[in-house]
Amino acid sequence: MLAKSLSFILCAATLSLSLPSLADTAVEHYGQLAVKGNRIVDQKSQPVSLAGPSLFWSNTGWGADKYYNADVVNYIQEQWNAPIIRAAIGAGLNGGMLSHADENIAKAEAVVDAAINQGMYVILDWHAHHAEDHPQNAIAFFEHFARKYGEQPNIIYEIYNEPLADTDWHTVIKPYAQKLIGAIRAIDPDNLIIVGTQTWSQDVDKAADDPITGYSNIAYTLHFYAGTHKAELRKKAQYALDKGIALMVTEWGTVNANGDGAVDRASTEQWVAFMKRNQLSHANWALNDKKEGASMLKPRAAADGFWSDDDLTESGSFVKSIVKGWSEVDFSGDE
Ligand code: MG
Repeated sequence: MLAKSLSFILCAATLSLSLPSLADTAVEHYGQLAVKGNRIVDQKSQPVSLAGPSLFWSNTGWGADKYYNADVVNYIQEQWNAPIIRAAIGAGLNGGMLSHADENIAKAEAVVDAAINQGMYVILDWHAHHAEDHPQNAIAFFEHFARKYGEQPNIIYEIYNEPLADTDWHTVIKPYAQKLIGAIRAIDPDNLIIVGTQTWSQDVDKAADDPITGYSNIAYTLHFYAGTHKAELRKKAQYALDKGIALMVTEWGTVNANGDGAVDRASTEQWVAFMKRNQLSHANWALNDKKEGASMLKPRAAADGFWSDDDLTESGSFVKSIVKGWSEVDFSGDE
């Protein structure tokens, strides 16, 4: 009896060792990303569109940083088939990079390391509304990550989450971006850099009329919240694409622009169609359990990522179905 069980165990072990993983990871499949015209393209110069979640502000004490761990990243890859995740690293005071730099860097690294292990892309977002006030802090942050990870195709730098409505593109945001891009490019010559745009990253038309020149692999941030933003913002985005700049939707919500309210399914469907049509990559706000409409998780969802569908909110379930169904490529690691 004992011998029989042992041979069964040995046989099972041999079997699992000999089974190859048939699916490539996203990064094995697409490799180094680049910008070609108004598209983000893969290593074969083919347009690529990636879908995944954005984590919530990483600030210490805000309650969402518990999800900055490998278990959560693994869950998102294995259960949602997501090839990309965004780390929203709080830039300011009050638990962010200006007052708690080491802690926030450690959280960012936990997500980046896990994403690299899973073969996922990871957006490193300087999550700020006044980044121009502290460019040196942003530069130090991105220099650190460019040195440590710039040779990996996984990393995408997002240098300014959402400039406000009265922060001028031409005189404030663009000069800030040029400074940041110069610093990153001195270390990492090629990974994508995503540039925030005026009015909470909606005025991509202004960026398209006065784009950053002299650097390659630059794209621009478009944010929308389906409950608030409709055809008017898509028109702006279409104008920007038609003018020839590449966009990435590094943050979007199914609800209102304040992050709360009901899921607007009809408007979300229109945006999903727009992003499909234009091959845009995107990250949904937010993988968090705060009690508000945009949260994907119900309050007190565990920090270990072993969630059932019962742990997901209405927005979370909806977004899971969008992300899981986005790509025709299976990155789940088995078939
Ligand atoms: Mg590089």
